Amino acid sequence: MKLEEIQTPVTALSGVKDKTAAKLARLGVYTVGDLLAHYPRDWDDRTVRLPLAEYGSTGGQKVHTIAQVMAHLWFGYGKTRTLKIKIADETAEAELVAFNRPFLEKMLPVGAIIAVTGNFDYRYNAIQSTAFETELIAREGSLDSYGAAKVPGSGVFPVYPLTEGVTQGLLRPLIQQALHKYGRGIEGDTPSAILAKRGLMSKQDALWAIHCPRSYDEAQSARKSLIYEELYRFQCGLAKRVKERRALPPVVSKADFSPRQKKLLKLLPFTLTDGQLKAIAEINADIDAGYKSRNDRLTGEPEQGAAPVYTMARLLQGDVGSGKTMVAFFACLRTADWGGQSALLAPTEILARQHAENAAALLAPTGVRLAYLTGNLKAQGRGPLLKALAEGGVDLVIGTHALFSKAVQYRDLQLAIIDEQHRFGVLQRNAIIEKGRKPFAPHLMMMSATPIPRTLALTVFGDLDVSVIAQMPAGRLPIKTLLARMGNEQKVYDYVRRELAAGHQAYFVYPRIEETDEDDTPEPELAFAQRRLKGAEEMYAFLSGQVYPEFPAALIHSKTGEDEQAAILDGFKQGKIKILVATSVVEVGVDNPNATCMVIEHADRFGLAALHQLRGRVGRGSAQSYCFLVYGAALSETGKERMKALRETTDGFIIAEEDLRLRGPGEMSGIQQSGYLTLGIADPIRDRELLEMAREDVFENLPGGME
Ligand code: ADP
Ligand code: MG
Repeated sequence: MKLEEIQTPVTALSGVKDKTAAKLARLGVYTVGDLLAHYPRDWDDRTVRLPLAEYGSTGGQKVHTIAQVMAHLWFGYGKTRTLKIKIADETAEAELVAFNRPFLEKMLPVGAIIAVTGNFDYRYNAIQSTAFETELIAREGSLDSYGAAKVPGSGVFPVYPLTEGVTQGLLRPLIQQALHKYGRGIEGDTPSAILAKRGLMSKQDALWAIHCPRSYDEAQSARKSLIYEELYRFQCGLAKRVKERRALPPVVSKADFSPRQKKLLKLLPFTLTDGQLKAIAEINADIDAGYKSRNDRLTGEPEQGAAPVYTMARLLQGDVGSGKTMVAFFACLRTADWGGQSALLAPTEILARQHAENAAALLAPTGVRLAYLTGNLKAQGRGPLLKALAEGGVDLVIGTHALFSKAVQYRDLQLAIIDEQHRFGVLQRNAIIEKGRKPFAPHLMMMSATPIPRTLALTVFGDLDVSVIAQMPAGRLPIKTLLARMGNEQKVYDYVRRELAAGHQAYFVYPRIEETDEDDTPEPELAFAQRRLKGAEEMYAFLSGQVYPEFPAALIHSKTGEDEQAAILDGFKQGKIKILVATSVVEVGVDNPNATCMVIEHADRFGLAALHQLRGRVGRGSAQSYCFLVYGAALSETGKERMKALRETTDGFIIAEEDLRLRGPGEMSGIQQSGYLTLGIADPIRDRELLEMAREDVFENLPGGME
C-alpha cells in the first residue's frame, strides 16, 4: 500500500483524542499517512560524546557528556528565584541555569553523576546552558569511573517541524506508534531496479530509517531516498504530459503573419530581431495548432469528441530589454485574428499601465479592441468593462492580478500571458485555466527577464516549451558598469552631470524610502556616516537641492499614489524630468531610451537579479549607457563577487547561473513560488542533482528521449 493511501484518522492511535487531533491538524496532519509523511527537518545526534569544553562546535551539535554536580547556587528573589547547578566533566566546568525547574535541586544532588545534553554558550564568565536535559546516573561517585562509558540517553533523535501546541515530546512517541502499527507493507513509486542502480533505500526502509535512524548517516540516506522518490514521481508527471504532446498530429502551419500581425509589422518603427521572429513563429504555430485542434473537436463527429486539444504552455525567456513585450503583442494579435481573447498580466500597476499605453499606440490601429483593468479601477468604469469582456467586446485586456479574480469573466479567453512571471508567487495556474471557455483551457505564455539557468529551466519547467530571445535589438551598445566605493559618490555625480548636460536622463536608486541607521552592521566600529543607510527621500532632497539644482528631478517609490506615479513617469519619458530618484519600484516597467545613467547606491543591499533588472532600465537607446554601483565599506565576500559578476557581464543567463551559485540552495526566487512545484521533502534547487538524476531515469525510457 502507498503511504498516502493510509487514510486511517490519527484518532485511531492510542492516546489521541480530539484535542490532540486538532493540534495535529494545524500541521496539516489528519491521517496516519500524513503523520508518517511528517518528516524530521533534522536529527539530534546523541551517539557521540561531546564534552563541555567543545561547546558551540561548528556542526552545531549539542554537548552530550557525563558530568558531576559540584554545587547548587540560587539567585533572584521570590518568584524569580532560580537554581544554578554547577557541574564539571573531565574537560571543563559549566553552569546549568534551571529556570522554573527548582525541583532539580533534589533530583540532582551535589556529588551526583549525571548525563547532560544541551546547548551551551559562554555568558557571564561561564559556560552556561538554559536549554538542557539531564538524567541521574548515580547519586554519588567519581567521574573517573565513567571515563569511557556510553552516555545514557544516546541515540539519533528526529527533530520535527512543529507548530503551536505540538512538541517533539508529542510527535516522537506518536510517530513511533504509527510506525509500529502501520509501517509495514508500504510501497513506493520508484522501480526497484532504479533503487538498486542508484543505491537508494526502498520506501518502507527509508520511512523507518528517517523516523528512527540508527545513525546520523542512515538518517541522511533515508532522506535522500525519500527526496529522490518525490522527484521521480514529479518527473513521471512531466513525462506523461510530454508523451501526450508528442502523440499529437504534427502541426501544419506556415507560421507566417496573420492580417493584424501584418498591420503591426508595418507600424513598427524598427525591425524585429531574429530572436523575436523565431519566438513569434513558434508561438504562431502553437496558437494555430490550438485553434485547429479545438475546431476539430467542436465540429468533429461525437465519437471523435475526445480528440486531443492542443494547449500551449510556453516560457519566453529573454534578457531585460530584449523586446519580449513585442512578441507578446504579436501573440495577442494572432489570437484575435482567430476570434479569441487574450489577457496580459503584469505584476505592478506601473508596468501594466505602460503595456496598456504601448498597446494603445501600436495595437489599436490594427483594429483590436483593448481594455485596461487594474485593481483600482473605479467602480463605474469597471461594470461596462467587465460586461464587454464577458460578451466578447474586448480582444485584449491588460492589467494586474485582478485579471484572474472571481469577478472577471471572459467570453472566450484563449491566451493568458504572464509578464515577469517570477513575481507571481501565489498565482495559481488553475485560476487562469478556469477562465478558459469550458471545456478548453487558454494557452499559457510566461515571460521572464530574470532568466532561469538553462539547466534548471529544463528540469523545473520540464513541461513547458521554451523560446529564447538570444540577442538585443540592433544598434544598442553594451552598458558600461562602473564600481565606486562609498565616499567616492562625488565622482559619480560629476560623471552623471556630463550625461545630463548632454541631454540624457538618469536614475538614482536607493534600497529604502527613508534613511535608517544600521545597528546590525557587520562592522560596528565603522563611523556613523558609513553605517547610515541612505534613503530615497533624503537623497532626493540632497540631489535636487544641492547636487543638481539646475536639472528637474522627481521622487517615486511604493508609497507614491498611482496617479502621481503615472504623472511622474510620463514627465520622465517626455524628458521634462531629468532625474528620477527611486526605490526598486522602477525595477520593472520603466522604459525610457533616453536615460543613460543608472546610479545604484548601497548596491550591495540588492540581490544580483534585482541589480541586473535595474541596470536594464538603461541601454535602451542608441547612446552609450552607464551603470554605477556604489557599494558600502563593509562589503562581504559574496557582495564582492556580486559586484564583480555585474561588472564582467551583461548577459542575464550568466548572471542567473552566478546568482544560483552565490545564493546557494533554496533561495532562487521565482521557482519554488512559481506554483509549478508543490513538493514536500524535496527542494528542486537544493536537490537539483537528484532532480536531474530522476529526470534521466524517467526520460530514458520515453520514446523520443529528453528532447
Ligand atoms: P523586455 O524584454 O525587457 O520586456 P521590452 O519589451 O520592454 O523588453 O522592450 C524594450 C524596449 O525595446 C522597448 O522600448 C521596445 O519598444 C524596444 N524594442 C523591442 N523590440 C525592438 C526591436 N526589434 N528593435 C528595437 N527596439 C525594440
Ligand atoms: Mg518586460
